[in-house]
Amino acid sequence: MSTPFRPLCPNTRLPLVKAISAIMAALLSPIRSFGPRCRKRLCLPAGPSAGPSWRGSVRPRGSTAVYDVVVAGGGLVGTAMAAALGHDVHLRDKKILLLEARPRKMSEQLPKSYSNRVSAITTGSTTFLSSFGAWEDICSMRVKPFRRMQVWDACSEAMIIFDKDNMEDMGYIVENNVILSALTKQLDAISDRVEVLYKSRAVGYTWPFHYQTSDSSPWVQIDLADGRRLQTKLLIGADGQNSMVRRAAGIKNIQYRYDQSAVVATLHLSELSDTVSSLVWSTSHEHAIRLQSMDEESFVDSINSAFWSNANHSDFIDTAGSIFRSAVSLLMPSGTAARQLPPSVAKVDPKSRAVFPLGLGHATEYVQHRVALIGDAAHRVHPLAGQGVNMGFGDIACLTHHLSNAAFNGKDLGSLKHLLEYEAERQRYNLSLMAAIDLLKRLYSTSITPFVLLRTWGLQATNAIPPVKEQIMAFAMRLAANFLLECQRLPDLAQYWMLGTV
Ligand SMILES: Cc1cc2nc3c(=O)[nH]c(=O)nc-3n(C[C@H](O)[C@H](O)[C@H](O)COP(=O)(O)OP(=O)(O)OC[C@H]3O[C@@H](n4cnc5c(N)ncnc54)[C@H](O)[C@@H]3O)c2cc1C
Repeated sequence: MSTPFRPLCPNTRLPLVKAISAIMAALLSPIRSFGPRCRKRLCLPAGPSAGPSWRGSVRPRGSTAVYDVVVAGGGLVGTAMAAALGHDVHLRDKKILLLEARPRKMSEQLPKSYSNRVSAITTGSTTFLSSFGAWEDICSMRVKPFRRMQVWDACSEAMIIFDKDNMEDMGYIVENNVILSALTKQLDAISDRVEVLYKSRAVGYTWPFHYQTSDSSPWVQIDLADGRRLQTKLLIGADGQNSMVRRAAGIKNIQYRYDQSAVVATLHLSELSDTVSSLVWSTSHEHAIRLQSMDEESFVDSINSAFWSNANHSDFIDTAGSIFRSAVSLLMPSGTAARQLPPSVAKVDPKSRAVFPLGLGHATEYVQHRVALIGDAAHRVHPLAGQGVNMGFGDIACLTHHLSNAAFNGKDLGSLKHLLEYEAERQRYNLSLMAAIDLLKRLYSTSITPFVLLRTWGLQATNAIPPVKEQIMAFAMRLAANFLLECQRLPDLAQYWMLGTV
């Protein structure tokens, strides 16, 4: 069977990548100066990329409900957006609607078994979620903090450990359905301010003409699959990586398929009977399908051998690495640390295995007149750094801030002026992070000797220089970077990430 993409370095067992992304993102971190930009924008793009209902029929004003804000897409990001808007004091008299194609998902009782979809949530995101009470709800359900991360390379002995002396939380592992339940509960609490329509798919968008005529609507019109039509002064596209809002607005999406899939699963570790871990293993599509379809015992064997095997080590790299480590330990005696051995996996939860194709995507514009994109609709990243939803929450915090200011100053919420401020701020941050994640993905997808040597020395040096490590950790905790982690010995849900393929 041919493998389209064969990262030469099998089993690059590392959650590691998460760490380094912080450094890079910190280096690339934007200077946050933003303000009105001089940019000429077409709010009515034409051509084949425009959606099917582009400038379609316009109904007379007043015949359909007009909202101040409609959020299209009620995944983690869209639901959080609606909750954040609904809780904002300056937006309290606004008419807000959340549209979600799927039925409402909120079980009254938390299932006993863990879900296979979990997210590493940064402390930055918890601050955002706390701002409207959702984090407290999450904590009352199920959440696991992580306080230590160990990242290591399958092609050498290099590794890095992050921990905090005072055992402060570095981030949290939370099941996606727990986050969604908490957000839904928050929405229920403000049902007088935010309307939610489940099982309501948007099938067409009609954009306002730039210049108004007496019979045209100045608002965005939304056609639902059941025939209803709505109008909104601002449409927020939170409809995921294949965003229809983005397509209908004619916004280009730069995308790249990684020729990799992520295998997720819920694992039980041998060491402690109550230790459950969540696995994200990025590998070639073929290998991912094999991992998904093999019997449970073989799957567990594959994970253990990926964790423990030294098959990808070479004598040259090992020697070069150990000379470098000895030199570092002479200069910085406290700069080396003993490696904690990887866990031994005992079993996998039946039916917890699932496969997700991986890719990178970035919308060239996040906003147009009366339209803004957030979450995966605006950017999609490799999950190696656990950044996707954290970036989405960052978008929401930023957009809510600008909309709240606009409302306070009596401005039109759909005006391009403050939407552009949101775009400038978020694109700078998101792009630098995406570039860092993509670089790490590529750096760790090769076993070409100079690259392996580079990352081995880089990792060893970073591990030995406390100020650099502290910078990474501070960045990780403050912002959205949460690398990977080995939270062995935590009694509940830990998470392991593996990159590479065999
Ligand atoms: C294996 C894996 C592991 C990950 N781990 C992490 C992690 O640890 N940390 C992290 O931060 N991120 C992680 N991510 C990324 C994260 O899951 C995504 O970034 C996040 O879920 C995107 O949320 P979203 O709401 O933007 O999009 P989506 O989850 O795609 O939601 C879009 C919603 O829009 C609705 N919709 C679509 N079209 C319409 C329409 N026309 N009308 C109405 N509704 C519509 C859909 O039904 C859906 O509910 C991971 C991703 C993967 C694949």
